[in-house]
Amino acid sequence: MRSLLMIIDGLGDDSFAAWQGRTPFEKAKHLHMDRLIERGSLNMLSICEDDLVPESCSCILRLLGVDKEDMPRNRAYLELLANGRDISEYEMVLRCNLVAVDEAGYLAGFNGAGLTAGQMEEAALICDDIFTDIEFVHLSEYRNLLILDKASKVMDCKIKPPHESVGEHLAELLADLKASSLVLKYFLQEAELRLQKFSHDGLHYTLYPWGVSERQTLPQFYDLHKLRGGTVCKAEIVCGIGKALGMEVVVPAGATGDVDTNLSAKAEATVKLLQQYDFVVAHFNGTDEAAHRCDALEKVAFIERIDREFLGTVLNGMQDPLKIVICGDHVTSSVTGRHDEGAVPVLAARTDGSIGSIKIKNYNEIIKFLTKECD
Ligand SMILES: [Zn+2]
Repeated sequence: MRSLLMIIDGLGDDSFAAWQGRTPFEKAKHLHMDRLIERGSLNMLSICEDDLVPESCSCILRLLGVDKEDMPRNRAYLELLANGRDISEYEMVLRCNLVAVDEAGYLAGFNGAGLTAGQMEEAALICDDIFTDIEFVHLSEYRNLLILDKASKVMDCKIKPPHESVGEHLAELLADLKASSLVLKYFLQEAELRLQKFSHDGLHYTLYPWGVSERQTLPQFYDLHKLRGGTVCKAEIVCGIGKALGMEVVVPAGATGDVDTNLSAKAEATVKLLQQYDFVVAHFNGTDEAAHRCDALEKVAFIERIDREFLGTVLNGMQDPLKIVICGDHVTSSVTGRHDEGAVPVLAARTDGSIGSIKIKNYNEIIKFLTKECD
């Protein structure tokens, strides 16, 4: 039987008093999911438990059966793979945000706040050719990567993620990094000079490298499970995971990685992949984005759209029975706007008419249910 894993990013959430204690998932109307729950099971489980950081990279790798020891120590390398680039073992890659800094030198925004999308594109172009020793890879909006020769001092640097450092002093945040690499220090100085033209209302802009990562060979999905796999996604990290695990990666037209994504195109791509592959992952990022914006209603509406426009279409389009798991990777609280390690909904079902007897007691049993013929 073919298997479909639907990962709804940041599906776990807080319960809301205004909704009689319900979470966004519980508040959302999802008739197709309800029908699957009737013949299968719904459990609340933590994917990261207490040994992983609650973020998509490690939690999704865990859902796909990759052991903790085989996970990359940072996601920059996977984002690079997602963009069709690779590095040698002699190089390293860092994530690099375009950040806003106030007049007193404190980090005012981690995501280019105050600039238009066009200005962020222009900022990336301006920083593209600072040094030949540092390759600047623009991903989207405020997100970039830096590739340079591996330096053990930089590899050992502890750099706080910018999204956790707003309000802190920039010079202190990057002191360790600048002390570890002269080339990065001069690169950042030059970037700040070139980005001066975007200064406005007491804010100026600069680059913030963090999350250093190196080349890493991940186990192949086929070697892990003896099944051929495909992935339908848009979020860079998930594309990178798919490629790193040797799965076919399809980014459907109109996929945005947010709540305005084209879910029918995703459903069509998924049905097509399910005809070719034993195991398909479909990833939905909009729930996580809505929760980061603390917009619980937007999250509810997107869950309802996934049920109607994606799940409904896939179930209609499949002639053969399926094993399905629909779950979150981690909690993203619509109250705090932050990730959390708590439990997420995990729905498991077969569409072959059999009822009951699906027991998913912990995260290990998700991939077991999907990949083992007898359970
Ligand atoms: Zn998130």
